[in-house]
Amino acid sequence: MSSVVAVAPAKLNLALAVGGPRSDGFHEVATVYHAVGLYDTVTATDGEGLRVTVEGEKGIAVEGVPTDASNLAARAAQLLADRSGQEPDVHLHIRKGIPVAGGMAGGSADAAAALLACDALWGTGLARAELAALAAGLGSDVPFALLGGTALGHGRGEHLSPVLARGRFDWVFAVADGGLSTPAVYAACDRLREGRVLPEPRVSDAMMAALRAGDPEQLGASLVNDLQPAACSLRPQLRQTLEAGADCDALGSLVSGSGPTVAFLARDGEHALDIAVGLSASGTCRSVKRTHGPVGGVRLVEGEPA
Ligand code: ATP
Repeated sequence: MSSVVAVAPAKLNLALAVGGPRSDGFHEVATVYHAVGLYDTVTATDGEGLRVTVEGEKGIAVEGVPTDASNLAARAAQLLADRSGQEPDVHLHIRKGIPVAGGMAGGSADAAAALLACDALWGTGLARAELAALAAGLGSDVPFALLGGTALGHGRGEHLSPVLARGRFDWVFAVADGGLSTPAVYAACDRLREGRVLPEPRVSDAMMAALRAGDPEQLGASLVNDLQPAACSLRPQLRQTLEAGADCDALGSLVSGSGPTVAFLARDGEHALDIAVGLSASGTCRSVKRTHGPVGGVRLVEGEPA
């Protein structure tokens, strides 16, 4: 029986500027995606029919992840099978290291990993550009999970251009108890901003300069997320988590995407450890993860899942 293993990173939006709702129900965004070292692993094995199983790494609850055809990894495998005239006979085992419904695009990471793994398992041999086109059809964040690094996103977030970013940034993530629904957070954002004239979403020059310079202080000062007030209104506890990180002198903090995971930027690895200890002691979150970014996009790995 043959197996292929792919790992895909989580994303953080360093900037997320959100416009008003479009006629198709989506929102126009201008965002800076940043891939960070929290990973989901998808193992694709020959099987009969399309089957999905899920397990969580320590601190990652997987309740609510569907194991039927609605799982984004299953949808990716089905789409690739349709595209290549293949029967979708594959068992996808997902090991989640990315918080579920946490605003870190774990489902999108699994879709990207399933595309790459099934492409290899079935010898489909699609070019990266063709995989990227399939990815965009699966969800706004899936193309970035393929690409990784740091990138500007426009449209729904699916139109990407790489950003010139220097250096490496140390992050601490506070994982919340339970997730937040992305559509519910966008709806709350619309309610909070009702009647306001919204400017066209754009990313600040200060953020682009901070990335070019690889300067964590400058980056910390330019982090911004238009969805943060909405996420905090739905989950007031997040304000305490943000305060706990500020007490540890984080260079900057923000809710990741639609939340409820909160990201804190540290000066270096040692400072990240201090922040992680402070956050754990504060009792304001379920678990704490330390990692860095940017990291590469989805990739195949040899042998057993990491
Ligand atoms: P979004 O990417 O929509 O911003 P998110 O990053 O907050 O969402 P995800 O972990 O991607 O959160 O999951 C959102 C929802 O998608 C889950 O609650 C679950 O119902 C569904 N889902 C479908 N497939 C997956 C998957 N492979 N992993 C996690 N959730 C999945």
